[in-house]
Amino acid sequence: MQPNWIKQRAYLTPNRIAVSFHDEQWTFQELYEKSVILAYKLNAYHLLKGKRVAVLAPSTPKLIEVLYACMQAQCEMVLLNGRLSKQELSYQVADAEVDAILVADSELEKLGANVKIISFSELHKIQPQPFEIASEWNDEFALTIMYTSGTTGFPKGVCQTVGNHSASAVSSALNLGLTEQDAWLCTVPIFHISGFSIIVRSLLYGMKIRLYEKFDAQACAQEIANGLVTKMSVVAVTLENILAEMEQANLTAHQNFTTMLAGGGPVPAAYLQRAQSLHLCVAQTYGMTETSSQTSTLASEDAFLKIGSAGKPLFFNQITIDAPNEEGIGEILVRGPHVTPRYIGKFKDKSTTNEGWLHTGDMGYLDEQGFLYVVDRRSDLIISGGENIYPAEIENVLLAHEAVKEAGVCGVEDAKWGQVPVAFVVLKAPVTEKQLMNFCEMNLASYKKPKKIHFVNNLPRNGSNKLLRRQLNELKQN
Ligand code: ATP
Ligand code: MG
Repeated sequence: MQPNWIKQRAYLTPNRIAVSFHDEQWTFQELYEKSVILAYKLNAYHLLKGKRVAVLAPSTPKLIEVLYACMQAQCEMVLLNGRLSKQELSYQVADAEVDAILVADSELEKLGANVKIISFSELHKIQPQPFEIASEWNDEFALTIMYTSGTTGFPKGVCQTVGNHSASAVSSALNLGLTEQDAWLCTVPIFHISGFSIIVRSLLYGMKIRLYEKFDAQACAQEIANGLVTKMSVVAVTLENILAEMEQANLTAHQNFTTMLAGGGPVPAAYLQRAQSLHLCVAQTYGMTETSSQTSTLASEDAFLKIGSAGKPLFFNQITIDAPNEEGIGEILVRGPHVTPRYIGKFKDKSTTNEGWLHTGDMGYLDEQGFLYVVDRRSDLIISGGENIYPAEIENVLLAHEAVKEAGVCGVEDAKWGQVPVAFVVLKAPVTEKQLMNFCEMNLASYKKPKKIHFVNNLPRNGSNKLLRRQLNELKQN
């Protein structure tokens, strides 16, 4: 059992700032009180222990209050991604068989009509029905259900338990360290594990969240330089935007700012080098929805020794490589208290682990010292004339070129080689295909050189801003 995190935090450090948003802020005690009333209001809708409630709202303090309230009422929260299409949302709502959807008024039109929908304003209006709020939570309780990004196929509904989340938050603190001054700049969506894990850390550590509804590179650059925030979570694209902003505005990271946690996908080495010259310490991390955030993270003392690595597993976690080839590359398997016990809905019969090990579908290797290098998704592997080609390696080379803003690589069928790589790039400065080809030739073995480079305006990305390599090929026809 664990204490009710919200009650416990308000008891331990009631007057600390929990959330700051624009120029307003709220203490843990204030948020606790608001969430008690909202939990009583949920009771008026019979949304109590064990009920499954979907939540759809932008990342604002109003959302945090509602999430705290659902936790206090012990509802399983299905966190919906507001960037999904109406169709994708109805799929998840149906798949999760939710009892109701709590939705910010601004998002109402994104939902269909099959389930009970309660807007935030309705929720606030209803008469509260007091009940006894649990002081303890069961470790096994599915605090959240999140859908995977659907990068490789159908999104899978993942149960993330109280025990999964707390193990993840504790391991993160053991690795990154913790001080009373810590404040986490949160511009990643709360519906995603990268954002929700910041809420969990805030509750467990008593740490302030500096919240933004949307990512804003200019504001982030200022926050990082002014010393009021100490940590931030980014993905490669947002990191690049911040770097560009800091370079342009001539800003460097304040010494209080200790960690830029970069996950969700590979971070090109060129970005890490640019970050270094801005005194920005980037810790690459490897994680997934099924692991409630980080499985491994590169500790800051190793950041510049092991460029490109996602570090070593956090204290309670283990990583092994299944069926490694002669280069040591195989599927990454993960074990630890942060690994989900189950999927729901369509994938409910698919077990998440085999003898305790989660099969991630990602390819990688461990170097002699046990540092993890994530190479690519197994499903995106290109096999050309019997040689394995990882699209990420080619994308990294292209991204290191000064004219390239975004790059995506996939395999296309080829009569002679079986498959060959082709590239799609978004430019930020003029360059010819020939010049880029020459650049690839200098940096890649010849069989890895893309057979064709297409210039496009945008790359296909999903609601988590991840590159959808399986849709790249369709771009050619446009
Ligand atoms: P789906 O499982 O539905 O295909 P998804 O795997 O993209 O979607 P997430 O759980 O959001 O859904 O993403 C986790 C994945 O992101 C990892 O399995 C891995 O492929 C990728 N990833 C995360 N961190 C890194 C990293 N540091 N380097 C490379 N890839 C990473
Ligand atoms: Mg996945």
